[in-house]
Amino acid sequence: MWQAQVRIDLDAIRHNVATLKGMLRPGTALMSVVKADAYGHGMLRVAEAAVRGGATWLGTATLDEALALREHGAGGGVKILSWLHSPGRPLGEAVAADVDLSASSIDALDEIVDAARKVRRAAAVHLKIDTGLSRNGAGRGDWPALVTAAAKAQADGDVEIAAIWSHFACADEPGHPSILRQQLAFDEALDVAAGLGVEPPLRHFANSAAALTLPESHFELVRVGLSTYGLSPIPGGAPDLRPAMSVHARVALVKAVQAGEGVSYGHTYKILKDTNLALVPVGYADGVPRSASSRGLVHIGGKVRRVVGRVCMDQIVVDCGDDDVRAGDEAVLFGAGTRGEPTADDWAVAADTINYEIVTRMGSNRTPRVYLGESA
Ligand SMILES: *Cc1c(COP(=O)(O)O)cnc(C)c1O
Repeated sequence: MWQAQVRIDLDAIRHNVATLKGMLRPGTALMSVVKADAYGHGMLRVAEAAVRGGATWLGTATLDEALALREHGAGGGVKILSWLHSPGRPLGEAVAADVDLSASSIDALDEIVDAARKVRRAAAVHLKIDTGLSRNGAGRGDWPALVTAAAKAQADGDVEIAAIWSHFACADEPGHPSILRQQLAFDEALDVAAGLGVEPPLRHFANSAAALTLPESHFELVRVGLSTYGLSPIPGGAPDLRPAMSVHARVALVKAVQAGEGVSYGHTYKILKDTNLALVPVGYADGVPRSASSRGLVHIGGKVRRVVGRVCMDQIVVDCGDDDVRAGDEAVLFGAGTRGEPTADDWAVAADTINYEIVTRMGSNRTPRVYLGESA
């Protein structure tokens, strides 16, 4: 008898990847971004489903994520790119395991070259240009030197320059003036590289938002994270996608309380009118954001109801009014929304955050993931 679980519909993942692929320009490949345990959905299982949907690339932030994919054979035969490494991390294992690596500086490139020499194999490198996010990527001033160093390493047989790439800052705000500025900066970086004799087979720029709204940014490859999971970075941006995650718990206790009583820690909420409260056994230790105290929504007994009082470590309290809700009833915090339940977007509003953070944090040892669908 389960008490709380996070359900992942692997058929939805496969459907979303196939749907997204159908929206790309012909010849554009799709990378499913599976970093952060696939945004809380479970990296290995998601990778398999995404590959079945047509992903030919998998993207991770850290090297350990990429190595785990290779070690477990998830997505056999696909390309893997990993892009966030602190200096000193041995890279030989990744080069030997055919993991493509990103370089944003000459120091990072040098470490890749050292690793390639050690394992006697050319490393596939994606050169990253910062076109305006001011996060990772080489600055415009450092770009020619990075490209020149990479060209030399390629001539020496130590690396193969597989791609030039970048990342948007505001693609989730279509029309934002930074988008065009970044596109122009990317074109300029490609021209500079071409002038230095570097014209790799791949260019990639688009995240989910750009994949959905900016076909001219698709190039040869798009990197889609959030939309793989059936969520959109833009309100109403992806009507054909199916949210893959739903969060369920069984009501532990129902009891009547009287007007004037305070609810949960700090008594931040006071009962206005006699009512029935349902105790739902998930809390911030399971990923329910405490910032959604007295605001989160939960579907119980055919209706959407509100969390009252503070979200606790292990539990939340939900106001059920006069309705006949009982211990053992199923509570749904969020899901696809097709059965009247709230969505991850609703929880994002309630918690003053984004849907990315809601799903990525969800689940715990005691609130495990359960996989559904034919692909499971
Ligand atoms: C996370 C990430 C993505 C995916 O972004 P979504 O908005 O989830 O599609 C793509 N590229 C990079 C570099 C990322 O860090």
